[in-house]
Amino acid sequence: MPLLPIIHLERCTGCECCVLCCPTQALGMRDGKAFLAHPERCDYEARCEEVCPVGAIELPYRIVMGTPEEDSYQEN
Ligand code: SF4
Ligand code: SF4
Repeated sequence: MPLLPIIHLERCTGCECCVLCCPTQALGMRDGKAFLAHPERCDYEARCEEVCPVGAIELPYRIVMGTPEEDSYQEN
């Protein structure tokens, strides 16, 4: 399952900075709050997380355990 940005609605002030800066137009506004309108467009480059002035957007990361010699990696 792909990782997607998490928007904490209780923190969102509706400033629209993330919507305006998203290079793929993945974000939109609904009822005065940002939301992921087109998750399939998100390339997970984290610009929205950087610009949000109140820290309402979070991009979780998946930790992958393994070594360069291994052909397959094990996800945790
Ligand atoms: S991570 Fe990038 S592409 Fe995805 S919603 Fe945020 S700004 Fe848009
Ligand atoms: S930048 Fe942050 S506060 Fe502004 S609309 Fe986006 S999530 Fe809400």
